[in-house]
Amino acid sequence: MVQDYNVLINFVYVVSAVLFIFGLKLLSHPATARKGNLLSALGMFVAVIVTLLDKNILSFELILAGIVVGSAIGVFTAKKIEMTAMPELVSLFNGIGGLASLAVAYATIVSAEQINVFILTVSVLALLIGAITFSGSVIAWAKLSERMIGRPIVFKGQVVFNAALIVAIVALSVLVVIQPSVATWHIVLIALALLMGVMFVLPIGGADMPVVISLLNSYSGLAACAAGFALENNLLIVAGSLVGASGIILTNIMCKAMNRSLINVLTSGFQAVITSDVKIEGEIKPLTPEDAFYVLEAAQSVLVIPGYGMAVAQAQHVMKELQELLEKNGAEMAYAIHPVAGRMPGHMNVLLAEADVSYEQLFEMDEINARIDTFDVAIVIGANDVVNPAARELPGSPIYGMPVINADLAKNVFVLKRGMAAGFAGIENPLFFKQNTRMIFGDAKETLGNLVRQFSS
Ligand code: NDP
Repeated sequence: MVQDYNVLINFVYVVSAVLFIFGLKLLSHPATARKGNLLSALGMFVAVIVTLLDKNILSFELILAGIVVGSAIGVFTAKKIEMTAMPELVSLFNGIGGLASLAVAYATIVSAEQINVFILTVSVLALLIGAITFSGSVIAWAKLSERMIGRPIVFKGQVVFNAALIVAIVALSVLVVIQPSVATWHIVLIALALLMGVMFVLPIGGADMPVVISLLNSYSGLAACAAGFALENNLLIVAGSLVGASGIILTNIMCKAMNRSLINVLTSGFQAVITSDVKIEGEIKPLTPEDAFYVLEAAQSVLVIPGYGMAVAQAQHVMKELQELLEKNGAEMAYAIHPVAGRMPGHMNVLLAEADVSYEQLFEMDEINARIDTFDVAIVIGANDVVNPAARELPGSPIYGMPVINADLAKNVFVLKRGMAAGFAGIENPLFFKQNTRMIFGDAKETLGNLVRQFSS
């Protein structure tokens, strides 16, 4: 009978794995992402149900309690979370995934009486990666939610300290595999791995945070995969590998978007802080929405470049209204999407999809840069770092070399933001001082609403 259940469990696991893979495929396009999410959730649901048939289940009551409490927290958080706080939430989810793997690995090491070297080794790996993912994600969460300073934190001797930490972790891991019964070693190993996670994320900050989040996401998958080997659970191995692989692919895409190597992102905090003494030339030229209206009314082509401020203002719906009015007026409309605009991958795509902006009107950075000088007006809505020409023009700038949307090359540029605050990277933006740039100060939603009223009246 037990044997029959094993066959059934593994058969359903294969079905779940297929659902995950199709889910991931559908997630790669905004139009199908919702379906992809549902499909993957269904895969996980059937996997959880069938796992309850496992002969090693000790307490159904505890599992049920876990499901109830976990689901309640999940539903509450998903309903309450602001769109702008999503990256922090993703970071916490990664951390909790790491913590779960850490717990599984710890339980495997301490509870088994007869445990072979392979299981011990993968358990120690799950414990290490899980702990690093957990504490690293908590620091990333604190940085993103501005509970601690977001810039890289470095101190004298940090590299030597980290090297010593790695040596200690490796030595202790070997000891745990050789003599798993010494409880103190487990605790010290967990403490050191948690410290490693903190040390890993501290020197990363500013515009590099998207990379570290997707890397931690990948780690949480690797930790789950190792935990899958420890538990000899095939689905956990497959699901962990999928998360690990997709996380690393996303990390690679992020690095490419910033024209940096992963090593450079992870270690640049240790290099001397680069500052630019170059004085930005030009002056700020404010414009009222009333005056902006006349320019827009005459425009044949308008490019919208959204950024994090559009998410803060929730200005996507009113932008769509303005788009329709401009189109009625005969203008060609396009949206330019930078891969790291906003605070999470695909942030702008999600917002614009919510406002029913057609996917055909969204263009990637390279495609739009090739013809950006043909647009009569570029409207920059709460974007800052992703349109900063310092990346092209100022060799001393911390973002020098990062590909940006060349908004300054459009014929006219309207920048919609509340004041002169810097973007996420905390640096000045020469775009605001350019000859062809006009600053329309105010909340983006209000400014766009004002423009809509001008067109409608
Ligand atoms: P930025 O963070 O560079 O700039 C956002 C701008 O929006 C600010 O300058 C702010 O100026 C303005 N703003 C804020 N609220 C409003 C509002 N209500 N109305 C109008 N404007 C507003 O955003 P970008 O999208 O250009 O760049 C994203 C940055 O975030 C990059 O550095 C990227 O590396 C980083 N990042 C990206 C992640 C991702 O996965 N996409 C994850 C983590 C970080 P003001 O206050 O003056 O209004």
